[in-house]
Amino acid sequence: MRIGIDDTDSPAGMCTTYLGAVLARRLDEAGIRVEEIRLVRLNPNVVHKTRGNAAVCIECTGDPGTAFSIACRLVDDLAELSFDETNPGVVVADRPLPSRFYKKAVQDFCRIDEAVALLEEEGALFRGYKNQRGLIGAAAAAASAFDDATWELLAYRSPGRWGTPRLVDRQSVFTADCETWPHTWDTVDREYGLVVCVPHTPDPVLFGIRGDSPGSVKKARGYVLSEPPGIEQVFLTNQGTDAHLISGRIGHLKEGCSYLLCGTVTSPPVTGAGGHVSFSLGDGEGSVRCMAYEPTRGFRDTVRLLFPGDEVTVAGSYKRQSINLEKILVSAVVPVVRTRPPRCAACGKRMTSAGTGKGYKCRECGRRSREPERSVIEREIACGWYEVPPSARRHLARPLVRGPPGHEGTQL
Ligand code: ATP
Repeated sequence: MRIGIDDTDSPAGMCTTYLGAVLARRLDEAGIRVEEIRLVRLNPNVVHKTRGNAAVCIECTGDPGTAFSIACRLVDDLAELSFDETNPGVVVADRPLPSRFYKKAVQDFCRIDEAVALLEEEGALFRGYKNQRGLIGAAAAAASAFDDATWELLAYRSPGRWGTPRLVDRQSVFTADCETWPHTWDTVDREYGLVVCVPHTPDPVLFGIRGDSPGSVKKARGYVLSEPPGIEQVFLTNQGTDAHLISGRIGHLKEGCSYLLCGTVTSPPVTGAGGHVSFSLGDGEGSVRCMAYEPTRGFRDTVRLLFPGDEVTVAGSYKRQSINLEKILVSAVVPVVRTRPPRCAACGKRMTSAGTGKGYKCRECGRRSREPERSVIEREIACGWYEVPPSARRHLARPLVRGPPGHEGTQL
């Protein structure tokens, strides 16, 4: 059977993944065999999310009624029910729910009544607390089917330490990365010297290590020195798989969905207020603004090297009529020709403009020329994929260390 849970936390505390890890232990104590625990990321653009729009799916064998009452009791105990925006959902289904619901929840938007109708149709046990919104994520988790997957080891703080500063040895985290990359990723941001795997929010997570197998994340974890964690859990997850991306077309984009789009750069990149860099992408029919926001740091320098006419594929979410860039493929760069007044053929001095449409004139000897001097500028950007740094990466975005979009992922 599958158990799905979602929407148990608030900005002040808790985390659905922690609740899932505790639930797995309670099920085990009750004689229900836990086979797999999944951390299922859903559409990163839903407005009601607390942090990363995560839900949890536990695949296990045992009595569904017992599992349902254990799960509901735990949600009663641990969920931040007093917070207005916390609306937990608990689902127990004796088989995986139809994967189309998961697909819609990761790439699009679902309604609460859609989730309830599906759960009734499938004969699942379910409980939606308060406004029942958590049933969307809980049902999507129980419907999850991963084409590609990665793993994350999450170490949680013991409850007495929640809300206090986290004690994680910085150097040990860099060692963990150094010893296990590229089989693990986003533990640190080497270029900017940042620790990425330790959150700053008041939830129970101490640190999380992402990687390509349970062995890789456990190996990396072995290097990390920290305060004594409470519990630790390895999750199978759709993080780092681009599961949110839809192959789309400019002019046919839906607010809050995420796309892979091919097109041509149609305006030079400009740096706006706050250091955000933008350019227009066109495909002959329409155009859309692409944004590299300030937190994407050096990625903006790459974007600034684009030139109108360059052919690119962009990946990112369509929000407020812009694509928020996660990565970009430069497939062809145009030759850029610079024109300037020519040198005088008689005296060698650089000519100046003789007025609009009147060519050039030498101020020394009066000689005229109609043609400017043309030179091809060496482009500073090579064809290939470019991505935002680990500190700016979204949970679902596939890091290039796993291979670019379209490459084969993990076979499950
Ligand atoms: P938590 O740790 O509690 O899961 P979170 O950051 O993952 O925190 P939630 O608090 O779960 O976010 O809030 C997300 C809410 O949005 C949930 O109620 C979930 O059911 C709902 N939701 C998830 N995906 C979609 C979707 N595609 N369309 C509509 N609602 C969604």
